[in-house]
Amino acid sequence: MDTTYDVAILGGSFAGLAAAVALGRSLRRVVVLDASTPRNAPSPGAHNVLAQDGAAPADLIAAARRDAGKYGVELRTAEVASAEGCRDAPGEAFGVTLTTGERLTARRLLIATGTVDQLPQIPGLAEHWGTQVLHCPYCHGWEVRGQRIGVIATHPMASHQALLFSQLGQVDFILHGEDAAAHLTADQRADLAAAGVSLVESPVAEVTADGTGLTGVRLASGEHREYGALTVQSRLAARAEVFTQLGGTVSENPMGTFIETDQRQATAIPGVWAAGNVADPAGSVAHVAAAGTTAGAALNADLIAADVRLARAGSA
Ligand SMILES: Cc1cc2nc3c(=O)[nH]c(=O)nc-3n(C[C@H](O)[C@H](O)[C@H](O)COP(=O)(O)OP(=O)(O)OC[C@H]3O[C@@H](n4cnc5c(N)ncnc54)[C@H](O)[C@@H]3O)c2cc1C
Repeated sequence: MDTTYDVAILGGSFAGLAAAVALGRSLRRVVVLDASTPRNAPSPGAHNVLAQDGAAPADLIAAARRDAGKYGVELRTAEVASAEGCRDAPGEAFGVTLTTGERLTARRLLIATGTVDQLPQIPGLAEHWGTQVLHCPYCHGWEVRGQRIGVIATHPMASHQALLFSQLGQVDFILHGEDAAAHLTADQRADLAAAGVSLVESPVAEVTADGTGLTGVRLASGEHREYGALTVQSRLAARAEVFTQLGGTVSENPMGTFIETDQRQATAIPGVWAAGNVADPAGSVAHVAAAGTTAGAALNADLIAADVRLARAGSA
């Protein structure tokens, strides 16, 4: 019996599972290999997810796994250590090795391994990531509406984030570190002032909390400022190790690193697709699920085209 999968999907969160459903419904033999660390796990609820607004990320993923399982997709909790293309059939066959040493083969790979949020190193900050330390006004802004919000500026895009959150609450723009002040242009200062955002020209020494949660920040000057929520711009590092092992190179934009794809989610490496935050750092759940569905359909069409080519060559 041929034990080769049609597609091995690396990463089984919103992008990977959307692709798995499209492929499973096309009667493809699919394995999803997932280390079970979805990016929004720290958050109590996912918002802006049509018809599922506020559902817990784990519940959404469990439901998507049930959907994929209905169509015969093999769902495995496993971490991929490496992958390599087959020399005899470039772009047509891949070996995948798990951290346990187990080896699988697949005709195509879909990389849906997501991204890592690298947070500024401020004592007390990481503990509140996803609950009161936020990055996205569309994901969590409504939940902190009307509150005092401290935007900790460590990134060139921080002033954009401050303007977005100023629609929701009273925003302070905290210049954390020399770079932050240097990045802020006169034009941006004028925009922030016009939007009613106050500048705080001191780095943050620590994030403060009591038994109920985050209470604010202590500045390097010693002053304490009370906030209901803080925002930061994490730097996004694509989990692209397998792609680089296969010979790919990652690209970079102001948000972080990512794998470039075409509109059908194909990468520059024949036989390798990428979808979700690993290819689109700005994508939220709805965007990455759409990209996964696109990738699933494109992979199925690509496999059909390969089989048709082979059959025609055989009958010629
Ligand atoms: C705190 C927070 C809150 C958010 N809230 C919202 C929200 O309210 N609404 C919204 O629309 N979006 C929200 N987002 C964005 C959302 O989390 C992402 O859009 C989404 O999770 C991206 O899905 P993905 O499938 O691309 O990757 P991920 O969700 O990051 O999943 C990648 C999966 O791949 C697995 N993986 C990685 N490497 C390997 C490997 N080598 N082998 C096997 N498996 C591997 C991981 O374990 C993980 O399960 C939030 C993000 C954050 C950080």
